[in-house]
Amino acid sequence: MEETRKHLQFLFINEEASSNNINYDPLHFSHSSLSETSRPHPPTTTTKPPLLELLTQLPVYTPPASMPPPPPPPLPPNPIRNTTGLSRSRNNTEEMGATIQPPFPWATDRRAKIDSLESLLSKGIRTITGEVQCKKCEHRCTLEFDLESKFRYIGSLIRTKKETFRERAPAEWMNPTLPTCPSCNQPSCLKPIIPSDKTSINWLFLLLGQMLGCCTLEQLKFFCQHNLIHRTGAKNRLLYYTYLALCKQLDHKGPFDR
Ligand SMILES: [Zn+2]
Repeated sequence: MEETRKHLQFLFINEEASSNNINYDPLHFSHSSLSETSRPHPPTTTTKPPLLELLTQLPVYTPPASMPPPPPPPLPPNPIRNTTGLSRSRNNTEEMGATIQPPFPWATDRRAKIDSLESLLSKGIRTITGEVQCKKCEHRCTLEFDLESKFRYIGSLIRTKKETFRERAPAEWMNPTLPTCPSCNQPSCLKPIIPSDKTSINWLFLLLGQMLGCCTLEQLKFFCQHNLIHRTGAKNRLLYYTYLALCKQLDHKGPFDR
């Protein structure tokens, strides 16, 4: 220790004498880095003489600037982030998780699958509601449809006209006549609000209002994908298949096979 002190005293004198020469002494680099790292300490240390400052800070070892910093500790595994990345990167129902939280009382825990008419009636579900917004004045409100009568009407339409459809949605399904806005009285203006999250689309509401044509091709493809329907083809074909498949989910004994 005494020897180190002497050396440091020498160093201190040298530093006083010539700052140029001292730059080549490797110990001086330690001094420099010590001083650098000591800046955040209380300002009382800066009032001490340089040698005293150096001696009081000797026990603190600071690696030379040339030594690479130690690698950061490995991040702990993040199962949530990994799961999300997997489901985004792979378009596979099983890997996304087969079941979901049913978005409506008339939906099931499967994507793009609604409950059967028999099951819904047994649960006392007779009215289906959905959100709509006016295309002119942006007024938002809720519409409701009577489940049985609306489905009976669409079912009889398909039964009587299926042959003439030729596996294509008719014009009235492609460009549905929408309800009149109660706020601005503009006819055919209440458009269904379809969420960007396709898992939360109100399929039964769109079916009963014959508003499935308001869906984009991408949204119809999502429905077809989860109902094992071939997804290629024009919008009027996918729309027709969507109508049939939703009717079949409500009543699997009805005339809704392709
Ligand atoms: Zn309006």
